[in-house]
Amino acid sequence: MDDKPLLSEKAEASEIWDSYLRTTSFGRNASFTVQEVPPVNQTAPTPQAIGHELQSYRQNLDEIEIRELLIDHIGHRCCWGSRPARTWKILAVEDCDVYVGTLDTFIEEREAKTQTVPLIGGNYNGKKHESDSEPELWQLDMRSQFPALFVPFKETKVPVPNSETVDKCIGCIGRGVTVCPTCNANREMMKCFVCFGRGFTAHEDRPNTFCGYCNGKGYLPCLNCDSRGFIKCQKCQGTGSLLTSKIAVVRWKTLTKRKVSATSGAGSVPEKVFHRAEGVELCNTQAYQCTPAYFADSYFLNKFSSEVISLRAEVPPSANVICERHTISIVPVTRVTMEDRGETFTFYIIGFGKEIYMKDYYPARFCWGLCPCLEWLRV
Ligand SMILES: [Zn+2]
Ligand SMILES: [Zn+2]
Ligand SMILES: [Zn+2]
Repeated sequence: MDDKPLLSEKAEASEIWDSYLRTTSFGRNASFTVQEVPPVNQTAPTPQAIGHELQSYRQNLDEIEIRELLIDHIGHRCCWGSRPARTWKILAVEDCDVYVGTLDTFIEEREAKTQTVPLIGGNYNGKKHESDSEPELWQLDMRSQFPALFVPFKETKVPVPNSETVDKCIGCIGRGVTVCPTCNANREMMKCFVCFGRGFTAHEDRPNTFCGYCNGKGYLPCLNCDSRGFIKCQKCQGTGSLLTSKIAVVRWKTLTKRKVSATSGAGSVPEKVFHRAEGVELCNTQAYQCTPAYFADSYFLNKFSSEVISLRAEVPPSANVICERHTISIVPVTRVTMEDRGETFTFYIIGFGKEIYMKDYYPARFCWGLCPCLEWLRV
């Protein structure tokens, strides 16, 4: 099958999406096909609303709070002094907001693995009807296992129906036994060490006596095969037959691509600092294949959105795309510079969560390797 349908019948797809999307936060009262997953949030916040949200955030971020945030941050470092945070003058507070764009590609990957086990009574299901045939991998109905959209990873394994075949065991040519490797079918393990293989013991002054140790046989029985010369075939567990079947390994994954656009003010902050930062969502769309978002009043955002979309993750050949999600957020970033007698240092307050990021310099670090903080490794 070339087009690898998501489920056995395309007509059923909308029903599936309906049913499992209803359990997520996305598709309530929706009815659509795989190709037409609707945008989640068609009403992106208006610029005024965003402006208002950022504005009220900024108004609350006054000098007192800035110092408190910094003192709290320093409090987590055992050997940083709080004096600069408490007493230095706040020289500048600058806004340098950052745009974070993401493109999530939610995929399903299917792979067949072959499994061979001994044919033990009852484990062969066989075909119910002669006409039953093995389905293609992508024909398997995985609805009951379907995870929430955009989960990072889920894997499940299911047997492929009608894929079982029974073959003669190659290890024993179907006999169920193999030659004993210890005695090589001679049934004897070693010469009797009491009579040296003679079966009797010779004496100088009296007649030979019967060797009781080996019962007069001259050899000792093979313990490995109980002197049968053969042992049970390990490959087929003595059944002489092997059952081969296919297992479908199905994986759902979200491949995430992310782009950060920082103004020069926040350019020195590593991008990963923004990944978990909370901001205002400017767009959040979901589709089988996302196209760049359109902002009527921003050439910059249109271009940024296109750039994010063009980062689209590569999908392995064994996978199908289920849907994509594209978001752009604006993360408030405030750059604060503090000064005392000509000396300065800078730090950033990031996102609505107000995380402090300080690249390296803080003027009151009293760490000489005598405390457990390991800061001294970096000094
Ligand atoms: Zn043996
Ligand atoms: Zn003996
Ligand atoms: Zn065998």
